[in-house]
Amino acid sequence: MVVREDVWSWTLSLDGRYSVKSACSFLIKDLMVMGIPQGEVLKAVSRVWKSWAPSKVIVFSWQLLLDMIPSRSNLIRWGISLPEGGVGCVFCDVLSESSAHLFLSCPSFFTVWYQVSRWLGWDFVMPLGLAQQFQVFTGLGGGKRVRLGLLLVWHIVIWTI
Ligand SMILES: [Zn+2]
Repeated sequence: MVVREDVWSWTLSLDGRYSVKSACSFLIKDLMVMGIPQGEVLKAVSRVWKSWAPSKVIVFSWQLLLDMIPSRSNLIRWGISLPEGGVGCVFCDVLSESSAHLFLSCPSFFTVWYQVSRWLGWDFVMPLGLAQQFQVFTGLGGGKRVRLGLLLVWHIVIWTI
């Protein structure tokens, strides 16, 4: 009988080593069984990993694109009660605090996207949803390196917000 020391092994990769990408790929398959994500969101979450950004930044972006961050509208959707009148955005208190509102259209952060677009020399386009904005923003580059750079900028802006 051969006695071996116990070792940890990640069964979702061929080499047994853990990676955030393999874990998220596993989770996305689970979500797809439930019908999410679809369309633009599916395209965005599959592209979000090919980035030079740190893993923790990419994971947050991935959660955001899947609308799985604890925004006030998500907390209500998940059955978590908020104080009365607590649906409004924490920054502007005007609209419902959805993920798209917080990271795209909230007046507190809208100007960040406007300034980044101006810095890149682009005419500013009003963002639609997060996945659509991701696809447009990161797809405007001419070559692979430019697109990787734009994806990094997108991650940085999201992380900064
Ligand atoms: Zn707001």
